[in-house]
Amino acid sequence: MRLILIGPPGVGKGTQAALLQERLGLLPISSGDIFRAEIREQTPLGVMAKSYIDQGLLVPDDVTIGMMQGRLSRNDVREKGFILDGFPRTVAQAEALDGVLAHLGLGLSGVVAIEVDDEIVVSRLGGRRICPNGGEIYHILTNPPRVEGHCDVCGTPLMTRPDDNESTIRERLKVYHNSTRPVIDFYQAHDQLVRVDGSQEPEQVYEQIVTELPG
Ligand code: ADP
Ligand code: ADP
Repeated sequence: MRLILIGPPGVGKGTQAALLQERLGLLPISSGDIFRAEIREQTPLGVMAKSYIDQGLLVPDDVTIGMMQGRLSRNDVREKGFILDGFPRTVAQAEALDGVLAHLGLGLSGVVAIEVDDEIVVSRLGGRRICPNGGEIYHILTNPPRVEGHCDVCGTPLMTRPDDNESTIRERLKVYHNSTRPVIDFYQAHDQLVRVDGSQEPEQVYEQIVTELPG
């Protein structure tokens, strides 16, 4: 199965991608995680991307498309199927992705738009903590780790993402409404879209995704 998850920051894309990986064996590919790995390694791409990410702005399309084209061309993508989390985020990226997948001879099984009100996003992101090692996602109230402040899987101290502060969150929401919502219309026009209510519990969101996907 090859899926795209689209939704505002904090709606639960990464959480659902992890469930789809665990239960269906799909490969999660998160553009944000790839950027954060480049930032950690201080590569030229990472240094450049950080200047946009810290402001809550999108990294320019040509850079993002080039990076994702490289990732999608690797063999594991063909073998396992995938869940794209956070890409495409603009119509130009969606059009480029169509070309990349056509070139690779891979079709999409479906596109899932997870939607929720902006205020829910702000409270979810305010409490988000992530493991800098494996990327596991926690929330201080709704999904706390067993030992406060430490990852359940590897024990590494959890961190707050630098872009998860209220003013950057508001900027990211603006960018989402202006640049990413048109991507939902793009896939709707191509009859590939399933809409899911992101205000539910994670398990209910997961159920809705797997029930409503075609096939
Ligand atoms: P969230 O989980 O909050 O939706 P991500 O981890 O997906 O955030 O992305 C974090 C940041 O990385 C974005 O705010 C943006 O700056 C950058 N980014 C991620 N994916 C893309 C993309 N497809 N196009 C441009 N910038 C991106
Ligand atoms: P995204 O990848 O869309 O930015 P995440 O999966 O990182 O979103 O989730 C953002 C925060 O909200 C995390 O702290 C996560 O634990 C929490 N969260 C995710 N899904 C839900 C949900 N359905 N209900 C409540 N909290 C959630």
